[in-house]
Amino acid sequence: MSSPRAPRIGVMGGTFDPIHHGHLVAASEVAQSLDLDEVVFVPTGQPWQKPDVSAAEHRYLMTVIATASNPRFTVSRVDVDRGGPTYTTDTLRDLRAQRPDAEFFFITGADAIAQIFTWRDHDELWRLAHFVAVSRPGHVLNIDDLPPEGVSQLEVPALAISSTDCRSRVHRGYPVWYLVPDGVVQYIAKHHLYRSMA
Ligand code: ATP
Repeated sequence: MSSPRAPRIGVMGGTFDPIHHGHLVAASEVAQSLDLDEVVFVPTGQPWQKPDVSAAEHRYLMTVIATASNPRFTVSRVDVDRGGPTYTTDTLRDLRAQRPDAEFFFITGADAIAQIFTWRDHDELWRLAHFVAVSRPGHVLNIDDLPPEGVSQLEVPALAISSTDCRSRVHRGYPVWYLVPDGVVQYIAKHHLYRSMA
């Protein structure tokens, strides 16, 4: 009898301030292409060097609302509860400790993978997870300088949406309907997020 395969878990880390359809489409496409059993969204902790980022609890709750309808999507509090700046090596170590049986796939957009050499302990990342770099409008996807066994790339449906633009739209009184899930639009309004910004 063949032994059951290890669960395959995608990890979508982000500030999610707010979570938008670009994040959700990327996660869904990677889940489909790599036959993942689950994608866990991991909102970052409160970065002390970025005082204008919304409270971690708001970002966590918007992520829960946005992912609730997809049975393969879950949300983890590991980075929110650890607090302080988030380092992906810590995120992956914590998730691996919770699920030692699983194989992990860390999802990054083209902009994020281009910065990976600046991440703390970046040379350790490759043994903690396989990295999947996804296309993002306005950014060149290039993984040539990264270890080929550690990273693969995937074209995902192109949605030119960023959290920065969503925040700016709310601040200027423009709608974010259809850029973020309906429940997130309502959460932003209820909690008066992004009205006043530096
Ligand atoms: P901000 O504008 O505040 O910098 P963001 O829109 O880049 O935010 P993050 O929460 O920083 O969102 O992104 C989390 C991850 O999702 C990163 O790896 C990022 O590259 C990826 N990502 C964000 N938006 C998209 C998109 N539209 N298409 C593909 N990947 C995306």
